[in-house]
Amino acid sequence: MKKSERIKKIPPYLFAEIDRKKGEAKAKGIDIIDLGIGDPDLPTPDYILDAMTEAIKDPSTHDYPSYNGSPEFRQAVSDWYQDRFNVSLDPNNEVLSLIGSKEGIAHAFMTFLDPGDIALLPNPGYPVYEVATLFAGGEPYFLPVTESNGYQPDLSNIDPAVLSKSNMLFLNYPNNPTGAIATDDFLQQAIEFGLKHDILICMDAAYTEVYYDGYKPRSILEFNRAKEIAIEFHSLSKTFNMTGWRIGMAVGHSEAVQALGKIKTNIDSGIFKAVQRAGIAALKNYKPFVKSQNQLYQKRRDIVVNGLNQLGWNLEAPKATFYIWAKVPGNKTSEQFSMDLLENTGVLVVPGSGYGSAGEGYFRISITTPEEKLVEAISRLKKHHVQFDMTPSPQ
Ligand SMILES: *Cc1c(COP(=O)(O)O)cnc(C)c1O
Repeated sequence: MKKSERIKKIPPYLFAEIDRKKGEAKAKGIDIIDLGIGDPDLPTPDYILDAMTEAIKDPSTHDYPSYNGSPEFRQAVSDWYQDRFNVSLDPNNEVLSLIGSKEGIAHAFMTFLDPGDIALLPNPGYPVYEVATLFAGGEPYFLPVTESNGYQPDLSNIDPAVLSKSNMLFLNYPNNPTGAIATDDFLQQAIEFGLKHDILICMDAAYTEVYYDGYKPRSILEFNRAKEIAIEFHSLSKTFNMTGWRIGMAVGHSEAVQALGKIKTNIDSGIFKAVQRAGIAALKNYKPFVKSQNQLYQKRRDIVVNGLNQLGWNLEAPKATFYIWAKVPGNKTSEQFSMDLLENTGVLVVPGSGYGSAGEGYFRISITTPEEKLVEAISRLKKHHVQFDMTPSPQ
């Protein structure tokens, strides 16, 4: 058997190594506190489960769904965008259902890249962007998004030879893994950049509903002329604790949305209709749930940020997402620090380098873990003298 060249292009997967180390630590009897995975620990709320329970008993939900999403689901997405972002979307050609946004993101590269075309990607960033670019035969070109540029790529300084081959720019705000948010100025600038160079602006908006301190993330579609050049990928996964359900949407630029739909039509068969009905219920009554969930995440965030700051870090609390992005103390690499931390304290964090070279020197904590575990994690760090102002000497 010969495997495809495509498979050989996949970069080594750091997270597989973390899983292996986690298994080893577990086998040694270490009690692990997993602050690694970005998957909500809380259940899907009851009001959504109730809608699902009813829908699943209706046999008309059991056959093949439509490729684009049911008219009712697309209408619910359109209504939600109107209510939440004041963005109007035509449910017929500016909304497409996705089997989770990861699916749509991966297929976007197949939709918009020819071999040799460049995709401009954030570094660090969600690993799917790079791999899907390679699968499409495209070339990733990484734009650093780091503390020094306020976690916003410098779009004014890209080599014209690169720009002329670029067809897409991927952005992700609020950001995984850094927890960073985008300024309004930057988002408007990104739209203008896309229009000027005819580069499709792709916004991964998975975290717009996880926010704190009165800050409210915006959709890129709120900005002037966005629908002429931007497509946004959204998801019910992180907002409603529905990661296992696989439901998301692509919205915006109608030709782009429909082109993506054309690729998908030939690959998948839509979202289970009962899940779409649950999704409609989720979006229709999102406000009370989102509010209470964010209050809970905010408490967790404060435990971790205050805890680390007492150990010498100087973190600003993120205004959105359930991630905390912190510098590695001492002069270990991200990977070494994370592995040592796991072995010595049982606390599992993700090395920043797993999201790209510009993530080196950082680690990511996910607060999708109950408060008492977070408190315990901080006290383990303290006990093992993991602090920011000196090389950690864990025993
Ligand atoms: C979780 C996540 C997604 C994908 O979520 P789906 O479950 O596939 O909708 C996309 N982008 C980022 C940055 C994420 O963290």
